Amino acid sequence: MFHKLLVAALFFSSIASAQTNAGDKLPVDPKVTVGKLPNGLTYYIRPNKMPEKKVELRLVVNTGSIMEDDSQQGLAHMAEHMAFNGTKNYKKNDIVSFLQSIGVGFGNDLNAYTSFDETVYILPIPTDKAGNLEKGFDILEDWAHNVTYLDQDIEEERAIILEESRLGKGAEDRMFKKILPELFANSKHGDRLPIGQDSIIKSFKPDEIRRYYKEWYRPELMAVIVVGDITPAKAQELVKKHFGSLTNPPGVRPRSYAEMPPYKNSSAIFATDKEATNYSASLNYSAFKNAEPTTVGAYRKDLVQGIFVSLMNQRLQELTQKENPPFIYGGVDFGSYARNYDAFSAFVSTGTGDVKKGLAALTEEVERVKKFGFTAAELDRAKKTRLNNIERAWNNRDKTESSAYVDEYVGNFLTQEPIPGIEKEYEYAKSLLPGITLDEVNNVTAVFKDEKNKFIYAMGPEPKAGDSLPSEADLVAVVDNGSKLELTAYEEKNIDADLLKTMPKAGKILSSTKDAV
Ligand SMILES: [Zn+2]
Repeated sequence: MFHKLLVAALFFSSIASAQTNAGDKLPVDPKVTVGKLPNGLTYYIRPNKMPEKKVELRLVVNTGSIMEDDSQQGLAHMAEHMAFNGTKNYKKNDIVSFLQSIGVGFGNDLNAYTSFDETVYILPIPTDKAGNLEKGFDILEDWAHNVTYLDQDIEEERAIILEESRLGKGAEDRMFKKILPELFANSKHGDRLPIGQDSIIKSFKPDEIRRYYKEWYRPELMAVIVVGDITPAKAQELVKKHFGSLTNPPGVRPRSYAEMPPYKNSSAIFATDKEATNYSASLNYSAFKNAEPTTVGAYRKDLVQGIFVSLMNQRLQELTQKENPPFIYGGVDFGSYARNYDAFSAFVSTGTGDVKKGLAALTEEVERVKKFGFTAAELDRAKKTRLNNIERAWNNRDKTESSAYVDEYVGNFLTQEPIPGIEKEYEYAKSLLPGITLDEVNNVTAVFKDEKNKFIYAMGPEPKAGDSLPSEADLVAVVDNGSKLELTAYEEKNIDADLLKTMPKAGKILSSTKDAV
């Protein structure tokens, strides 16, 4: 299939633009300087005056809970906490006091996060006061190789992590703690939730966390990102000064990535929490290997997938405008928590309404698209919307906030997400969109359509006395039943969807139109 797409891309792009060829390497936005220090540390520098007198700094470490040994479960996350507990140049609480003094949110999990595959430190520095920037770089450098890990600080942090493990960061977090091991069944991800294992947090030897820090916080796995009101020369000088002396420890273990095997059967989990307020359900297909695009041809393939997602979301949104809608919000995605993998998933939120009904409606729409695909009119509208959106972004290209660029560069470092820049993206949209065919978009389902096994999770508040929630078997049955449904193809409404939105009581008008047909 890929080969066919590539040929098609070559053909269409050659008539649309002489400069866009499928095999061309995607360029890097010339406005960002990407470089590597001799020790392997990567840096991204981009001057940007939105806003003025502010520089966004990030230390991105390409390690997370996946790299923990069995005896270290939870210590990638705890290492992130320890960064705020004292470093060579900032004694305990000094970093937090400094962050407070410059008016940025402070503390672990606010200025940093740890996931399966990465740990990211976030430092927005207002540069109106002399010395702030230098201090910011001092802190970033200390996080990279000078965290002190004093015995007493480690002991005190155990209780804080255990409390976080017990309470989570709210109802959703607590429910995900039950869901994720099932979502990642048969994968290392299932045993490596970043929060770790309470028994290990209580009893690990301090050297275990020091060893994690020493092994995985190494310059070849790091990127420093500097975006904001600063000259590239100054930024480069500061990066070299602060990170040039870092060294990779001898005999390092390679950074590896976990496999994500397909589901062996269909299953479901219903997680509840006293403090949850809304019901939701998610339908997940097995993950498949997928690399970020490096060529124009692969970029085009991503564009086709993006259009598929927006068409699917448009249909789900249309359902929410009906009278008595089966759900209040729905969407699909090709993302995944696992590095180098994508997975098709679909999601609905039903508020306080019937989650089984919502899941059934979602299943039906996914099955309808698998069977009949989309219509030419839908594709036309989606192409126009996409082009308009990119055009708007291009028109606003001088107003992009530094924090948005930073996110792109974090993605580029960790997953090689392309960063061609808005000028190029606009150019690609203009030359590639017209050639994208309905067959190609409908063919996006090929990666998941024949997959029998799915994982379903639902979450929400505990049922009221006397009420009951659908069983896990019920949820599986709803989804399994999808392939047996007698479905009809989607029909274009007579009234333009945009027009409808502007009318009061749109649902009622829509249903009377339907009756007339
Ligand atoms: Zn935390």
